[in-house]
Amino acid sequence: MPVDPLYFFVIPLALVLTGLFAAAWVYDIKTFRRRKSKDETVYRCVNCKRIFTDIHRTPLARCPNCGKQNEPVPAR
Ligand SMILES: [Zn+2]
Repeated sequence: MPVDPLYFFVIPLALVLTGLFAAAWVYDIKTFRRRKSKDETVYRCVNCKRIFTDIHRTPLARCPNCGKQNEPVPAR
């Protein structure tokens, strides 16, 4: 039974492309998760002791409870 030589190129090409798409997908998810957790900064209000987060990397964030400006909690 003769096999079309084209299959020797098409099948490995399809496998390589599938692998590359899978790798890109995994990389995208990992990058997205890392960026999401990195951008969220934890703040602790010195006035009412409330702990809150802000997605922006700002030096000061306003407390949603009392409105006081707070510095971020140092990263552990
Ligand atoms: Zn507060």
